[in-house]
Amino acid sequence: MRYLDEFRDPELAKRLLDDIHATAKHPWAMMEVCGGQTHSIIRHGLDQLLPDGIELIHGPGCPVCVTPLDVIDKALEIASRPEVIFCSFGDMLRVPGSGRDLFQVKSAGGDVRVVYSPLDALELARANPDRQVVFFGIGFETTAPPNAMTVYQAEKLGVENFSLLVSHVRVPPAIEAIMTSPACRVQAFLAAGHVCTVMGLGEYPPLAERFAVPIVVTGFEPLDILEGIRRVVHQLEEGRHEVENAYPRAVAAGGNPVAQKMLEDVYEVVDRSWRGIGMIPQSGWRLSERYRAFDAEHRFSVGDIRTKESALCRSGEVLQGLIKPHECAAFGKECTPRNPLGATMVSSEGACAAYYLYRRMHLPGTGPREVTPVG
Ligand code: SF4
Repeated sequence: MRYLDEFRDPELAKRLLDDIHATAKHPWAMMEVCGGQTHSIIRHGLDQLLPDGIELIHGPGCPVCVTPLDVIDKALEIASRPEVIFCSFGDMLRVPGSGRDLFQVKSAGGDVRVVYSPLDALELARANPDRQVVFFGIGFETTAPPNAMTVYQAEKLGVENFSLLVSHVRVPPAIEAIMTSPACRVQAFLAAGHVCTVMGLGEYPPLAERFAVPIVVTGFEPLDILEGIRRVVHQLEEGRHEVENAYPRAVAAGGNPVAQKMLEDVYEVVDRSWRGIGMIPQSGWRLSERYRAFDAEHRFSVGDIRTKESALCRSGEVLQGLIKPHECAAFGKECTPRNPLGATMVSSEGACAAYYLYRRMHLPGTGPREVTPVG
């Protein structure tokens, strides 16, 4: 298949791996920022092909995983109301809130619908003027522009029964938070290619300079990831810390200016909590004053919700790269994709789900765990 097969070519992969093996003289730990990259790394076993001492730390770039529990609980509360049609992408339906998930709200009679675009939700609002239609807008710089565009359209068309429950987050402040954590072991980043498709490279040189870390913008196919790792290893061995673009087929230096303008018009930057990590200053967006009437939190007054995380779940440590999923005692036992205790087991981009799906069931040198097989 074009644009896939050529980036999975085993011969080219071997050449990149030979270069990495020949270059790496020291142990290095680098973080792949995006959950899509984690999924690809574990699926193709790329981490197992690297030289001993080259460690990939799985970063927090899974939108479902980092959406805070209080926002999930607000979604559940709004979706339970009889006047509401609650719209979401499918991956949010099984994310556990404090006591239930959206599937359970739906089975109890809530009108919860899976849509493929926020514009589908806007169409539903136009077709159902006597109902309130809410879209669950989560994610990074990748999903924020289309959600902003939908609110912009709603205002332009005068669709007053549409609103957005917003939990958007930004990558650069998360990199800053990771690098300033006392437990940080990260020496370089494979930045998320699709985020840079929107935002370009401009936010990264100050971070590379301040923390003396190479940042290589990397794609998602096996050859993309190996090329990103190869460039990082060269920089680390040569004592450089530069921003490089290893994903030029998708990323331009300036990103997508139209999408950036839409973000500026519709949102304002705010402090945001990340599930498992906590508050990161200036790390998210909410609707700006001009669009506040379309903010579902504001419309449904769900500001004061108390939350309760599973005591067993260590997803915060997974999301910060402090442990691998199979180091959590609940992994594959109390916690499976069918019965997830934390968001990192729900989403296909979550590190715990990737380890489970591709059968990384136990730490090297330890015996297999008892597991509940996936159907
Ligand atoms: S395996 Fe489950 S309980 Fe453990 S950290 Fe991952 S999501 Fe949380």
